[in-house]
Amino acid sequence: MNNFDYKNPTKIIFGKDTIKNLATEIPKDAKILMLFGGGSIKKNGVYEQVTAALKDFQVTEMGGIPPNPEYDVLIKAIDIIKSENITYLLAVGGGSVIDGTKFISAAALYEGDPWDMVMNRKPNTVAIPFGAVLTLPATGSEMNSGAVITRRALKMKIPIGGPALFPQFSILDPTVVRSIPSKQIANGLADSFTHVLEQYVTFPIGALLQDRFSESVMQTIIEVAPKIMADPNDYQAASNFMWSCTMALNGLLQKGVPTDWAIHAIGHELTALYNIDHARTLAIITKSHYTFNFESKKEKLAQLAERVFAIKVGDTESKAIAAIEKIDAFYHSIGIATKLSEYVDEYEGTAELIEEKFTKMGMTGIGENKTLTPENVKEIVKMSY
Ligand code: NAP
Ligand code: FE
Repeated sequence: MNNFDYKNPTKIIFGKDTIKNLATEIPKDAKILMLFGGGSIKKNGVYEQVTAALKDFQVTEMGGIPPNPEYDVLIKAIDIIKSENITYLLAVGGGSVIDGTKFISAAALYEGDPWDMVMNRKPNTVAIPFGAVLTLPATGSEMNSGAVITRRALKMKIPIGGPALFPQFSILDPTVVRSIPSKQIANGLADSFTHVLEQYVTFPIGALLQDRFSESVMQTIIEVAPKIMADPNDYQAASNFMWSCTMALNGLLQKGVPTDWAIHAIGHELTALYNIDHARTLAIITKSHYTFNFESKKEKLAQLAERVFAIKVGDTESKAIAAIEKIDAFYHSIGIATKLSEYVDEYEGTAELIEEKFTKMGMTGIGENKTLTPENVKEIVKMSY
């Protein structure tokens, strides 16, 4: 096992009718900026629950944070924070709203150009405190310290993070799942599943407990997927779906193991280029990434085949191949296409564009052993056409 530090300061409040507990989590004298997305919270009752819970607070609202939170939108919050003397942020939404809130919390206290803060890749250690009401299980952003910020004008999607970017609390009420369109539920299933893969399908092997944590999260996601796709009102499925997504990326699974994140790094480029949903970019890249890196990943893939997909016969190679096919079949089973050509007509040249971007940004060694070059990335993207 690798050495590790482990601290997760986010308080989780989980269950039916828990949004009303908001008031007790925020300092009484806080001046709150409530951030949300394109308006889903005004149609599904979440907005009413949040405003009722905050009736004794001074609250300013800012909606309009788009999926793949856009820098040019987020930056407008900084002026509001200054003019209204905001002391606390509340994100009400999915990963995009929570990630956007994380950026705003750090950018508001950053001395200098906030875009430099994004690009310098230094851990964020100072931020306005914030909490979250999660409306879409998927990213784990509700219990981690990462965020991904998009700047469409530059065709860039960049991760930021640091100890100041953990939410102080997150409210997880699984009944919010009822109003999520099935396309987004599928995205949540695929994103969370891939989060586990990125922490599990790595080499060398050695963290036995971590492996079993990961396998249990993947097994649960696979078990609840058909149920929640068929009926988002199924509370049992919704609650297990929601908690699995949080556990998939709250830091626990990655302790003591090498982590990959190449699928995410490449996927972010597909979103930046073509605005494809985050989860779908991961589904596009997974198979070719594991096929390209088969030799270094086959042992772990074979273990995945045995323990998660119950494939007991065959040698290491054949089990590993079966695992790759099973992952691909899982994405298809929830209606997610796994080839770039199924999303983009003019896909030729994508691999070269991404190779160029990785070279320019100095991303010359990615993957768990920092061995993947921009040229390797080009090959992986080509295989995903
Ligand atoms: P999202 O972009 O937050 O939301 C997608 C759509 O779902 C939005 O149109 C939103 O509408 C709608 N929606 C949310 N909750 C809903 C509800 N209860 N009912 C109906 N519609 C609802 O999706 P996401 O997958 O959670 O976040 C994706 C972003 O997170 C990407 O930028 C990705 O790169 C990033 N990400 C972050 C991490 C991390 O660790 N921080 C990890 C993986 C991915 P409204 O806008 O109207 O609310
Ligand atoms: Fe993700």
